[in-house]
Amino acid sequence: MSTEVKRGIRRTPDLDSLYSINDDGSRNMLQPADVRGRWHTRKNIVFAVLIAIYVVVPWIRIGGFPAIRLDVPARTAYLVGHTYTREDFYLVFFLLTGFAFGLFAVTALWGRIWCGYACPQTVFLEGVYRRIEGWIEGSRNERLRRNQGPMSFDKLWRKVLKQLCFLVVTLLITHTLLAYFLPVDELLPAILAGPSKHWLAFSWTLALTAIIYFDFAWFREQFCVIMCPYGRLQSALIDDDTVLVGYDHTRGEPRGAKGKAEGDCIDCRSCVNVCPTGIDIRNGLQMECIGCTNCVDACDSIMQQIGRPEGLVRYDSYRGFRGEKRRFVRPRLFLYAILALVGLAVFSFTASKRTSFEVTILRARGMPYTIENERIQNLFTIHLQNKSPKTAEYTLAPAEPTSGQPAIEWKLSSTELEIESLGEVKIPIFAFVPRAEFKQPIPCRLLVTDKTTGESQTIELHFQGP
Ligand code: SF4
Ligand code: SF4
Repeated sequence: MSTEVKRGIRRTPDLDSLYSINDDGSRNMLQPADVRGRWHTRKNIVFAVLIAIYVVVPWIRIGGFPAIRLDVPARTAYLVGHTYTREDFYLVFFLLTGFAFGLFAVTALWGRIWCGYACPQTVFLEGVYRRIEGWIEGSRNERLRRNQGPMSFDKLWRKVLKQLCFLVVTLLITHTLLAYFLPVDELLPAILAGPSKHWLAFSWTLALTAIIYFDFAWFREQFCVIMCPYGRLQSALIDDDTVLVGYDHTRGEPRGAKGKAEGDCIDCRSCVNVCPTGIDIRNGLQMECIGCTNCVDACDSIMQQIGRPEGLVRYDSYRGFRGEKRRFVRPRLFLYAILALVGLAVFSFTASKRTSFEVTILRARGMPYTIENERIQNLFTIHLQNKSPKTAEYTLAPAEPTSGQPAIEWKLSSTELEIESLGEVKIPIFAFVPRAEFKQPIPCRLLVTDKTTGESQTIELHFQGP
């Protein structure tokens, strides 16, 4: 085998090997050709909208809180005007279940439309990094020719400039990502203050920049092909009615030069040259296909040039490619949609029942009670957290004892509390019962009321004794 073929320069994609890895284990850096067409235009619009959303969202505030932010040190998440603390963590399960099954339903309908249009890996790689590469290093053929040639000044300055641009874009992405974890108004002063003032945030920024730069500058499509689990689930989620990017074998074969073969495919390899994962769609559905539609646009343009109908490579279902009618409604779609709705409904219902403050009570560590001067004493700690966007005032009051139960004497360091937005306090509470009156654990209740809203919560506990 010639060195050229071994190192992937003239390799043909097949079903038995990864096109991005050469036979000798080295990386075959793909150089997808530029493509024009209706799907490409639609994708560019989606990419632009999504990038605008990624950048703008951290600046949006709803109900006094960031639209989306995860405050890791405070273990608090903000989501469209609501705050979620560590006590709400279980809700993540329902939210993720809803989104995961929603994605399954979309996959059952339209294949990997998420990968091709909305996954940040595709949005940034195809919409930003490959575009910069094209501007600086030229078309696919120019890039291939230059990469295979010896080092020259022309090659060097283009490579250096490209990597510098990649680095700048990566830094912008990293800082945008940070704005989902830090308050945006604190971000700029933190950057200007220098690394020594915020060494932890600086270390995170550095690590994130290195990972993102490595991913988009070098690792690229291998993330989708080797690492992403979603691609591997694909074959389990789709069926004969799922709409996918595919090649019409019946129409295209036997392939060959125009006028020399009966099929419409003239074997021009345009669909292969534009593929960002380096596969040949004519070999059938493959795990590497991210549904980007580049091959659809490339083949449509060839069909226009040779005067044959578009759609040799197109969006269709297996059933459609066989000339059968496609079914929209099928059991798996119902199942995925229902499970998605259940997850999202439970999340929404439970989230709507949450209160504007969180209160928990814990018994002090060690002995559940102590006895002093013929009185039994229990010690508790109340943990009160204000989850509202404003400072709030709370009152603490013991509820009336149940009839027949001995009266409990409460000693609170404070019965009125003012807590700033998202602040929390822990206060000790002592409870006493004369030893002679204690017969069995006494159920008791404490009432916590938000003075502004009138919202109240009752905490139940048991007074323990010998
Ligand atoms: S086969 Fe076509 S749709 Fe799939 S990744 Fe390649 S170019 Fe995109
Ligand atoms: S672009 Fe169309 S005509 Fe050319 S090789 Fe691919 S399928 Fe065949």
